[in-house]
Amino acid sequence: MLGLLIAYCAVFGLIVGSFLNVVIYRVPRKESVVSPRSACPTCGVPISARDNVPIFSWLFLRGKCRNCHSPISVRYPLVEAATAGLFAGVAARIGFSWSLPAFLVVAAGLLALACTDFEHLVLPKRIVYPVLALVGILLIVAAAITHHWHNLLIAVLCAIVWFVIFFVMNAISPRALGFGDVRLAPVLGLALGWLGIRYALLGFFAANLIGAILGLSLIATKRMKRQQQIPYGVFLAMGTMLAIFAGPELLRPFQSLKG
Ligand SMILES: [Zn+2]
Repeated sequence: MLGLLIAYCAVFGLIVGSFLNVVIYRVPRKESVVSPRSACPTCGVPISARDNVPIFSWLFLRGKCRNCHSPISVRYPLVEAATAGLFAGVAARIGFSWSLPAFLVVAAGLLALACTDFEHLVLPKRIVYPVLALVGILLIVAAAITHHWHNLLIAVLCAIVWFVIFFVMNAISPRALGFGDVRLAPVLGLALGWLGIRYALLGFFAANLIGAILGLSLIATKRMKRQQQIPYGVFLAMGTMLAIFAGPELLRPFQSLKG
């Protein structure tokens, strides 16, 4: 039965990934995500439904527009495949739980935000706030159905603590950590806090460790200057997903600690 849930979430992920492509492209450019319909950026001809099937259309058209044959970025099928993979992984990890929808939203939101942060160094409010609201509502629903109010309380506390820590980090070093990261912090605190305080700690340390290792190696290989702004949101997303996916294994040595 779990296999069926994983397969279903993977297919759902392909569809969501297709929408995330629109969000990732349009939101940083301050365009509507609803209209107009997707069109080829080169010739402007709208993309028909049969050419808009996640991954398969791109492969079938060999990465070219049907009309003008100009290349279509490999990023589109990659984002769709990544969303499907993340959704399958979240389904495998969370399983049949009322909190699963909240974690799918977290995975989709973090993927979109990692992309906009990587490309434009922004974590748009138009993505962060809806994700925060959706995750909050879905976790409240999950708590109401399962009576896991304790999880919700820890989640809210972790969200507040993450927010305060990031607020202070931003005040100390606004270049290393922009205010977009401060806005994103409660989302991560909510999701990881629901799983337990130890997950919130693990996610925080994993994000900073990944950031330090990648940042220093980029500076060392001269691909990045020391003063350059870093896409901290990418590391936050990676650290959070690592904590969700590998938390039980990574936290096993600390099992005697409660939380
Ligand atoms: Zn075209």
